[in-house]
Amino acid sequence: MAQAVEEALREKRHLLVEAGTGTGKTLAYLVPVIRSGKRVIISTGTKNLQEQLFFKDVPFLEKHFPGLRVCYMKGRNNYLCRQKLYDLNEQPVLNGLEEINQFRAIANWEKTTLNGDRAEIADLPENSALWHKLDARAEACTGSKCRQFDRCFITEMHRRAIESNIIIVNHHLFFADLAIKLMTEDAPDAGILPEYGSVIFDEAHELEDVAGSYFGITVSNLRFNDLVRGVETTLKLKGGFPPGVHSATRSLFERAQFFFSLIPQGEGRFAFQNRRQFLEEHGVEYNGLLKTLERLQAELELIPEKPEEVFNFSRRTQELRMQLAFLLESTDRNTVFWIERRGGDAPGRRTSGGGSKNVFLQATPIDVSQILREHLFSGLETAVLTSATLAVSNGFDYIRKRLGLENARELVVPSHFDYASQAILYTPPDLPDPRTAQFVPRAADCIRRMLEISRGRAFCLFTSYAQMHQIHDRLLGELDFPMLIQGRAPRNALLEEFRMTPNAVLFATSSFWQGVDVQGEQLSCVIIDRLPFAVPNDPVVAARIRAIDADGGNAFFDYQVPAAVISLKQGFGRLIRSLKDRGALALLDNRITKKAYGKVFLESLPNYRKTSDIGEVEVFFQK
Ligand code: SF4
Repeated sequence: MAQAVEEALREKRHLLVEAGTGTGKTLAYLVPVIRSGKRVIISTGTKNLQEQLFFKDVPFLEKHFPGLRVCYMKGRNNYLCRQKLYDLNEQPVLNGLEEINQFRAIANWEKTTLNGDRAEIADLPENSALWHKLDARAEACTGSKCRQFDRCFITEMHRRAIESNIIIVNHHLFFADLAIKLMTEDAPDAGILPEYGSVIFDEAHELEDVAGSYFGITVSNLRFNDLVRGVETTLKLKGGFPPGVHSATRSLFERAQFFFSLIPQGEGRFAFQNRRQFLEEHGVEYNGLLKTLERLQAELELIPEKPEEVFNFSRRTQELRMQLAFLLESTDRNTVFWIERRGGDAPGRRTSGGGSKNVFLQATPIDVSQILREHLFSGLETAVLTSATLAVSNGFDYIRKRLGLENARELVVPSHFDYASQAILYTPPDLPDPRTAQFVPRAADCIRRMLEISRGRAFCLFTSYAQMHQIHDRLLGELDFPMLIQGRAPRNALLEEFRMTPNAVLFATSSFWQGVDVQGEQLSCVIIDRLPFAVPNDPVVAARIRAIDADGGNAFFDYQVPAAVISLKQGFGRLIRSLKDRGALALLDNRITKKAYGKVFLESLPNYRKTSDIGEVEVFFQK
């Protein structure tokens, strides 16, 4: 892999590499990147990998390559905005004792911190409302016109990045930056990343989804609320709040609230059908909202001797108007328009919470391949895409097509783990189809039996919250092992509890299928309830399926099966993380052996020993 990456960098070529777990793929790209002497961006899918690179691999390499300069960049909302802190200091508008304490802690920390990264304040709650008012997000930043610009943590981060050979980011930051640069082509300094010619994408199987979300548009009731609140508090603070602006913000607040209450009802994610009919029925309210945005922008522009922030508000108002118009009126055929309703409840909780939900109007590109081909890959000297799960049936057709990456060299580097002796894959011979009602009780029995054999120490991974809860509740009180369930605590806390609790069993869904590393006996069994096909009535998935079929392809084989293969490889990949790990895998979905397409899954998985005889699993554990 290192040789292939070195050649790709030298010959300015693109490269796709699947490198199995434990192959040392991070060093296999870091070393050639350092030797190339070029400035290279390394983009990872998860924060875990980003941290592992920076805090583990880089210090090791620094010993061998003195003078190496590496930096680590997060999204802007991870950093403190000094100006906002000083503004709030002058006129504190704080809610309750907790916020006052947090404010004091942040103000003290600001005096000494070098990076301004909130991760340095250990006890700041993840969802701190105060932090949301103080972070350095782009919307409220006045850039080089800000009095703090030279001391700003974002400026500092930018400076460090310019001086670095290697810049470690994550896909979210990378695509947020690319999307900003595409929108502001005439402002080459837009965005946060300095110029680059080569990028390594690790965990590249996630690129399609992340790119889709950043090349799309979201307009929510929250964005209107944030804009109104921002304008009102800033102008009050700066001592000039003309009545015209006041009346425009009040009217915008009311009109937006009413408009969002008219959006078609529905829970979760669903397609925004009949936008034309919606406009016919609610054209008055829609046009009224657009007009109020125009009015606010005009009023803002009339303010004499505007504080710098006002230019920002004016730009945001215009952006909101254009984006709302696109969401309601565009007929772009490569875009799916959909609605999402979600509230403050943590995912996985079954309570509805009763509070009113926020409404997000979304536009997502159906196919990102053309955008990526034109705006990313064609402009790069070298893109290396790597992951432990990129190939399907040993080939890269799927990923190449989805991402528009033509002319890339390809390499599959098998893992050096001895899967045939380290892991056994059990598929129960007689379970009903997972789509039938009889499945849950029978699957629960099967899981109980597996857990007795493995003495807990297991991940039970589900494709839906409903199934996770149903099976968990059936087994509760029937097993002698501590049972943990997703949603009970934050993800990392739950994982830590799993690691520390002997014989624990964790019930979880898709967010635990990737980026989770539990080495050793503590994780000896991974059970997956069904083949992880993406939910076909999800609006984005459904639009992709329709588009592929309409184009003469076969969405099931070209898209749904390969995507599920990659997810299954990810899920099972949790088990064997080192040469010493051993354990059992179980897939409770017999379509893998009964349906013709099951073969694609089986030939894409590592060569685990396979059995349908639970007795063999028992013998495996006795050994
Ligand atoms: S430059 Fe922007 S982010 Fe930095 S302190 Fe000023 S307003 Fe805040």
